[in-house]
Amino acid sequence: MTPKQTPHILIIGAGIGGLTTAVLLLQAGYRVTVLEAHIYPGGCAGTFYHQKFRFDVGATLAGGFSTGAPHARLAEKLGIEWPVQPVDPAWITLVGDRVIVQWAERERWWEEIYRHFPESASFWKKQEWLANQSWNISAKDFPWPPRTLADSLAILRSLEPATMLAAPYALRNMASLLSASASPLLRVFLDAQLLISAQSLAQSTNALYGSAALDLPRRGVNHVWGGIGNLAQTLADWGKDRGLTLLYRQKVERLEVNGRRGVRVYTNKKQAFEADAFVANLTPWGLVSLLGESAPYSLQREVQTRPPTWGAFTLYLGLDASQLPDLPADHFQVIFDPSRPLGEGNSVFISLSHPEDSSRAPQGMRAATLSTHTAISAWQIDEKAYAERRAEYTERMIRAAEVAIPGIRQAIRLALPGTPHTFEFYTHRPLGMVGGFPQTSLWRARSPWTGLANVWLVGDSIFPGQSTAGVTLGAMRVAHEVIRWIEQEVANRSWAISKSVGSAKVAS
Ligand SMILES: Cc1cc2nc3c(=O)[nH]c(=O)nc-3n(C[C@H](O)[C@H](O)[C@H](O)COP(=O)(O)OP(=O)(O)OC[C@H]3O[C@@H](n4cnc5c(N)ncnc54)[C@H](O)[C@@H]3O)c2cc1C
Repeated sequence: MTPKQTPHILIIGAGIGGLTTAVLLLQAGYRVTVLEAHIYPGGCAGTFYHQKFRFDVGATLAGGFSTGAPHARLAEKLGIEWPVQPVDPAWITLVGDRVIVQWAERERWWEEIYRHFPESASFWKKQEWLANQSWNISAKDFPWPPRTLADSLAILRSLEPATMLAAPYALRNMASLLSASASPLLRVFLDAQLLISAQSLAQSTNALYGSAALDLPRRGVNHVWGGIGNLAQTLADWGKDRGLTLLYRQKVERLEVNGRRGVRVYTNKKQAFEADAFVANLTPWGLVSLLGESAPYSLQREVQTRPPTWGAFTLYLGLDASQLPDLPADHFQVIFDPSRPLGEGNSVFISLSHPEDSSRAPQGMRAATLSTHTAISAWQIDEKAYAERRAEYTERMIRAAEVAIPGIRQAIRLALPGTPHTFEFYTHRPLGMVGGFPQTSLWRARSPWTGLANVWLVGDSIFPGQSTAGVTLGAMRVAHEVIRWIEQEVANRSWAISKSVGSAKVAS
């Protein structure tokens, strides 16, 4: 093919999902354009600059870098080195009067299990075994949910006898693995872990998914030098060095459809870009808003019938390090009152920048990101009530942080709250819905398909859902699907699509 005939793929959004798909398609030899509404990449896993601090927007824990895990596989494919360093303990959970240390080292973690949950060793053994099966599968091509015969064959090929033994757990939830004598402490602990990793509680989280999610600390959590946004920046730099067109401040406002195919997008800069295939690093709600009435019926129905996902309340703190106590870790999870529901400032995740990472804060200071799950509906209120709620949640977050870091209040030099409206404004996720869908059922897992032949979704809305590692895995699948589709189009000689207009063409 001549350069002009080389298929052109347009990616909407430079989050981890969009950028990972972009670099894989670039490596496969296609022309790729990424349009990003914001001024830097990373979306919810970005890092923003404010008054000499570099704050992580949302994601702070970077997993998935151990051998066979998604970020490690991607690095191997691209030949890149991530700016990461493993941390142990991964994080510390404070619940009631307990301090539960989430060691990466397996032996130390088992000591914690026997200390805090002696009655439930059999639960943890089962969880560990199920987690091993799930992680083994995720290290292979496992196109879930399958759509084509090729997908089903790939799934069959990746199954081993041990995976088959784990198959019945695809129908069970995490709580069903617990014995009746499981302590209330264990139940709250599990709920808190699953809420941040699967967006749902033990009672509703799928057992295979939940077991893998609980193993995250053992699979390795990393500090990202410069902030978690450096993962996306690493991908962006790799792509730009190899011909990727990555344009910032280009918010896509419309995706035009002809028949069952996307043909071009229009941006806030009054520009139009044509392409042969489109990958939307968006939620289904975000995609429908770009398609308007051209959205396929199934997609329209999906956004009308699906319950909204979680939102997040965040608090970004600039801290005077000299006022902080010596800390045994950089990440903490506080369940303030174990008898009350989680989220809404009652369960808070607290991450501080690495003390030796001078790029994150002025000398003698540290940057912290605190986050809690919140229902987006609670923020659809008038201005006065909104300001009051924001102040109240700010206070709840600081009060919870004081449990893990006594004296933190006195160390605060800067405090910036972020609500679902803030997330909507900066990441363009409708209503500030973040974190993807709760992982309750493998059979209802959201696939990348949109009902349009050449448009795919990527990001935390598709299986396996949230986290930079999960989104990377989903993006690998989407890149594979796009390549397969283009190869089929070429083979069918229906490559009439854009041929001569395949380049990122500016219409006005
Ligand atoms: C508070 C919080 C804490 C979290 N903690 C962790 C954690 O510790 N570890 C972890 O691994 N994960 C964590 N996550 C989850 C993780 O951040 C996300 O799952 C992941 O970053 C989502 O990536 P994505 O590719 O789906 O999309 P996004 O991050 O949403 O990126 C989408 C991009 O598309 C752009 N965009 C949107 N609409 C348009 C448009 N119309 N035109 C152009 N560009 C557009 C946005 O600006 C954005 O840059 C957390 C999330 C939140 C909110």
